[in-house]
Amino acid sequence: MSETMTAPAGAPVPSLVPNDLDAMWMPYTANRDFKAAPRLLAEAEGMTYRTPEGRAVLDGTAGLWCVNAGHGRRQIVDAITAQASRMDYAPSFQMGHPLMFEAASRIAAITPSGLDRIFFTNSGSESADTALKIALAYHRARGQGQRTVLIGRERGYHGVGFGGMSVGGIGANRRQFGSLLPKVDHLPHTHDLARNAFSCGLPAHGAELADALDARVALHGADTIAAVIVEPLAGSAGVLLPPQGYLERLRAACDRHGILLIFDEVITGFGRTGANFAAGRFGVTPDILTMAKGLTNAAVPMGAVAVSNAIHDAIVDGAPGGIELFHGYTYSGHPLACAAAIATIDLHRDEDLPGRVRSLEPVWEAAVHSLRTAPNVIDIRNFGLIGAIELSPRPGQPGARAMAVFKRCFAAGVLVRVTGDIVALSPPLIIETPQIERIVSVLGDAITAERD
Ligand code: PMP
Repeated sequence: MSETMTAPAGAPVPSLVPNDLDAMWMPYTANRDFKAAPRLLAEAEGMTYRTPEGRAVLDGTAGLWCVNAGHGRRQIVDAITAQASRMDYAPSFQMGHPLMFEAASRIAAITPSGLDRIFFTNSGSESADTALKIALAYHRARGQGQRTVLIGRERGYHGVGFGGMSVGGIGANRRQFGSLLPKVDHLPHTHDLARNAFSCGLPAHGAELADALDARVALHGADTIAAVIVEPLAGSAGVLLPPQGYLERLRAACDRHGILLIFDEVITGFGRTGANFAAGRFGVTPDILTMAKGLTNAAVPMGAVAVSNAIHDAIVDGAPGGIELFHGYTYSGHPLACAAAIATIDLHRDEDLPGRVRSLEPVWEAAVHSLRTAPNVIDIRNFGLIGAIELSPRPGQPGARAMAVFKRCFAAGVLVRVTGDIVALSPPLIIETPQIERIVSVLGDAITAERD
C-alpha cells in the first residue's frame, strides 16, 4: 500500500557493519551481552527491516511503538528533505517559523476537543516533564501554589527525566538514582492476573482501583495535589490495560478534588488504539495530553503536549506582557520535525490508519489469543494493535525466558519486544493479515522452544 523510499542512486553507501562497538554506550541494554553478539538493523521499508547482511526482519513492534505508518514513507521523507533545503533551523525563543504554527494547528485538530494548545518538545520524556511543569505553573497562576504533589501510578512509565522518573512506577528505573522529586505519590497499578487473566480487550475487573485517589487525598489533603499522570493504557511496563470504567472513575475523582488529569499518550497516540488518541477511544478527556513517537512516524525526534484552553489561558493571562512559562527547548518545533509531523498526520488521515486498526482488531485479537495453549503462557492481553503474552518466569531467573524468546524470534526474522517476562507486540498499523499470522507463528514456535 505504501510508496516507500529507496536510497538515491549514487549516494555514498556507509559501512553497514561497524568494526568497533566499544565507544557507543547503549541505552537500556545489557552492553556486554549485546556487543558479544550484536543485533543490527541497517535498512527499513514498509513492515520490514533488513540486517546489514540483507536478512529480512518483520517489524512486530513498529520500532519502539513509533513507526505507526510503516517504514520509509515517501511523503514523510520528501517533506523532511524539502524543509531541510528550505531552512534547517530557526530559533524557538522569541522567534517562530510558519511550519511550527501549521503543525500545532494540525495536531490540535486531532486531539480531543478542548485540548487546543500545543507545546513542542523533542521526546516522550520531555513531554512528561513539560506536562508536570505546566500543571504546577497552572495552579500557581491561580493562586494555588501549594498544590505541588504529583501522583503517578505503580508500573507507570513516563520517560527518564527527573519528573517522569519520579512519577513513574517501575522500580528498576528509579532505584539507581537517589531520592528523586519530593512530594510524589503513586496509585496502585491495574494488573490483576487473578481476576483478569486472558481477557479479550479491556478487563472487566478493577475500576474501583481509581478510588485509591481518594485515599491519597485523605493522606495529603486535596488542596496540595497538583496532578495525576497515567498512561491510559500502560505500554512499557508490559501492556497493562485499564479495567472497564477505570479511567472514567479516575476522571471523576480528579474533578471532585480540583486535580488535573494528565494522559501520557506517547505510545497510545497516533492510531495505535483505533482512534487518533486513546482518550477518544475510551471517551475520557484529560486536562493535559502528552505525545511523541508516532507524531513524526519516528522519522525525526519530536514530542508535544496538548493543553486545555483553560490551563493555557490561566498561565498566559496571568503574566500579561511578560514571559509566561519559563520552559522550552532549543529544538521545540524544529522545522524538520514539523515537516515530518504534518506529513505524518496527512498519511494517517489519507489512509485512515485508526479505522484500519479497528477493522483489524478482531483478527489481531484472535491471533494473539491463539497462543494461549503455548507452554508457560500465563496471560494474554490485547487492545487496538497492541498485544502482550506474559510467560511464567524461569525459577530464580526473572526475564530470562522472555529474553530467550526475543532472541529466537529475531533469529527467525521477527522483531518483538520484552519487558521482564512479558512479550509485547505493537506492529505498524499498515500490517496485513498474513504478517499478523507470521508474527504469531514465529512467536509461538519460540515460546515452545523455550519450554522447560
Ligand atoms: N511515556 C511513555 C508512555 C512511553 O512509552 C515512553 C517511551 N517508551 C516515554 C514516555 C518516553 O519517551 P522517550 O523515550 O521518547 O523519551
